[in-house]
Amino acid sequence: MAGGERARGTARLPTIYSTTRMIRILGTILLALLGLAFGSFLNVCLTRWPKGESIVKPRSRCQSCGRTLAWWENVPLASWLALRGRCRTCRAVIGWRYPLVELAVGALWGWQAWQFLSAAFDPGLPAIVVAQSVLASAGRLVFYWLLVALAVLDAENLWLPNWLTLPGIALGFAVTLIRAALDSHALMSQSVEPMRFSVAHEALSAGVAIAVSAGMLLLVRWVYWLVRRQEGIGLGDVKLMALLAAWLGLAGTMLALSVGVLLGAVAALSLLAAPAMRREPGKWMQSKLPLGTFLCIGGVVSALWGDRLLAAYLQWVGLS
Ligand SMILES: [Zn+2]
Repeated sequence: MAGGERARGTARLPTIYSTTRMIRILGTILLALLGLAFGSFLNVCLTRWPKGESIVKPRSRCQSCGRTLAWWENVPLASWLALRGRCRTCRAVIGWRYPLVELAVGALWGWQAWQFLSAAFDPGLPAIVVAQSVLASAGRLVFYWLLVALAVLDAENLWLPNWLTLPGIALGFAVTLIRAALDSHALMSQSVEPMRFSVAHEALSAGVAIAVSAGMLLLVRWVYWLVRRQEGIGLGDVKLMALLAAWLGLAGTMLALSVGVLLGAVAALSLLAAPAMRREPGKWMQSKLPLGTFLCIGGVVSALWGDRLLAAYLQWVGLS
């Protein structure tokens, strides 16, 4: 009798395990495909925003010959690969940016789904914790999409529009506050001593993170201006730092900044080593690097591996 119970019990476990695994894999694939589609839409935006064109009309067309694209030329990633990066009629090159943006959003969204589904699929979790996890993950999807958008806009046009950065800051701040509110609610429902001012505390620390991060870059901008008497860092970069701080907190933003500055330095040095620059050394001083792009990449690195990198750093300097 007891043996039969046990046998049934152990037989059920792998079933639950494999169902959970199945949902995890399918959910990840679904979100990755959705990410590819949103990346494809982003490509349309990235081409049309700088020209001030509508992103809804007209339908997608070749940038070179103007021919309206057939549906099968608009399939994310697959079309670019099938057409080998060229227009079917005029053979104009379709830039690397198209598959890269689609791949970036698809991979980041898939990864976020994988993380979410591995954390939230415990039946014992209280609903409020699941709600918090859903909110945080949905927020991350928007955050990643924004970072890819800003990275490309700055790389191609040295442009970080206010109407992307400012709502991004507000949204990051709002998500942080709602998470804190759910947190304190969850603590109260578990009759753990609630942190009475947890929301106010989170609001304050997010506000300080935003002010310090933006202030740091403003200071660098000012020093640069004092030394060179020209604008080296745009105000868009300052707002981008505030955006990173609203989503990643102060430590995460400092990590993003470090990665960004490091990438910028590598880019500047490789530019210096380029043959064209060696012929005209003066050109290097005038060439503008998209700091915003490097900051966005730093932001993605910080969002993906921030906790682990910061822990490793603290251990390295002997603080933990
Ligand atoms: Zn064409």
